[in-house]
Amino acid sequence: GKKQRVDKILSNMGFGSRSEIRRLVKQGAVKVGGATIKDFGLQVDPELDVIEVGEERVVFREFVYVMLNKPQGVISATEDSRDRTVVDLLSDEYRHFDAFPVGRLDKDTEGLLLLTNDGKLAHNLLSPRKHVPKTYYAEVEGRVGEEDKDAFRRGVTLDDGYVTMPAELLVLREGSPEAGVVSKIELTIMEGKFHQVKRMFQAVGKKVVYLKRIAMGSLLLDEHLAAGQYRELTVEELEQLR
Ligand code: URA
Repeated sequence: GKKQRVDKILSNMGFGSRSEIRRLVKQGAVKVGGATIKDFGLQVDPELDVIEVGEERVVFREFVYVMLNKPQGVISATEDSRDRTVVDLLSDEYRHFDAFPVGRLDKDTEGLLLLTNDGKLAHNLLSPRKHVPKTYYAEVEGRVGEEDKDAFRRGVTLDDGYVTMPAELLVLREGSPEAGVVSKIELTIMEGKFHQVKRMFQAVGKKVVYLKRIAMGSLLLDEHLAAGQYRELTVEELEQLR
């Protein structure tokens, strides 16, 4: 591992501000390798050195895995000069992990977004060869029915000529254009082209008016998370995802 100042490590890990950490060190509450330290600028290796704060042994971890229910109006990037990004939604204790979103959702799309700094897992989930299924809930203007199911199962031609892979359409409620009632559907796709769900409906002459991702691979959006809320993955969720 790489050595860093102990006060920086501990404040990054949520043990308090730098000045609070310095106070803890002065009070003799911080140990490294079993010995109480006096120097809050001490260089330590968080992966090798055993650090203790009071009675608590600090568990250093390299990776973080966060499930976010992305709200509308926020973009799936780590930096943007104009808009708020999904990374801006995370609290300070996650800042030093440099987590990034695994894949993209449109600015106006809500729902499941995994944020991690585990590049290998992200690569596996995004690799076009792996065909990781992604399920979306959508509300679509007009009537969505059997003919659309068939079309999506066969593959539809997008505006750029690309023919989509077989996708599974579930109609939860058939809309009625006459009554101004939207259709409610779930669509599972095994690929992730730009604006794919919206463009698939465009290909059958229909318009998506609301879009939310509810699953990615084995990972299901936790329905207790309101838009903008997040939580870390459980051990089971992480194991299944790998
Ligand atoms: N398909 C879309 O059209 N938009 C998204 O954000 C995700 C999938």
